[in-house]
Amino acid sequence: MRVAQLGSGTPEIAVVAGIHGDEPCGVRAVERLLDERPTVNRPVKLVVANEAALERRVRFIDEDLNRTFPGDPDAKTHEGRLAAALVSELEGCLTFSMHSTQSHADPFAIVNGVSETATELVPQLPVAAMVETSNFAEGRLFSAVDTVEVECGLQGSETAAQNADRLTRAFLTAVGALPGDTVDRELPVYRLTDVIRKEQADTYEVFVENFTPVEAGAPFAAADGDEQVADERFYPVLMSSNGYRDVFGYAAEKLDVLETTTAAD
Ligand SMILES: [Zn+2]
Repeated sequence: MRVAQLGSGTPEIAVVAGIHGDEPCGVRAVERLLDERPTVNRPVKLVVANEAALERRVRFIDEDLNRTFPGDPDAKTHEGRLAAALVSELEGCLTFSMHSTQSHADPFAIVNGVSETATELVPQLPVAAMVETSNFAEGRLFSAVDTVEVECGLQGSETAAQNADRLTRAFLTAVGALPGDTVDRELPVYRLTDVIRKEQADTYEVFVENFTPVEAGAPFAAADGDEQVADERFYPVLMSSNGYRDVFGYAAEKLDVLETTTAAD
């Protein structure tokens, strides 16, 4: 793990990249901040998490770090120990953690509950949606540390790296670390309700677009040509043919559209 800081004092804000070693976009954003060293109005901790996995360009060494929190300093796995180290490093910090995906090009935010922080912060980020995943929080960073995650775009793409940079700057502006104003957006909010599993197969297909509703009775994916059909209407989120080993993605319901209310004082 690599830890650096912008500004002086004890940071209450952190930016984390490289939870997954095959998602380099966030690392680029952190490195750019370290190169440019912008003047900050409050200190910011910068963390590149899983350096060993990044070096090998793999998601993880022993186990998925974002299913391992809170971890244990004496864990047998690299990620188990790293999770514990990361939790102690991020203690007391509102944390911004960057990911990328094989499922969707447009950035969206992932939060563990529609909290006051999420409601205030996320509409100021250049994202198309907010996804609430508290039903599936176990082992994720935000189960242990107050965290907003963002999916920056397609894994390994230049666009994802540029999005990571824009998202980080918007986050740092929204929390008052960088000067300037953010733009408020109306945001649709989704809540994950189910995991969509997939059987062992040689080929997988996904027929639907993320965040576009799938009607009951519609085929939405196939494993070796065997179609899976929707029992009821749902919104697909993080769906991709080969993104995860044993799941296609998630089914979600749409909650409200979040409208930003500017604080009166
Ligand atoms: Zn990731």
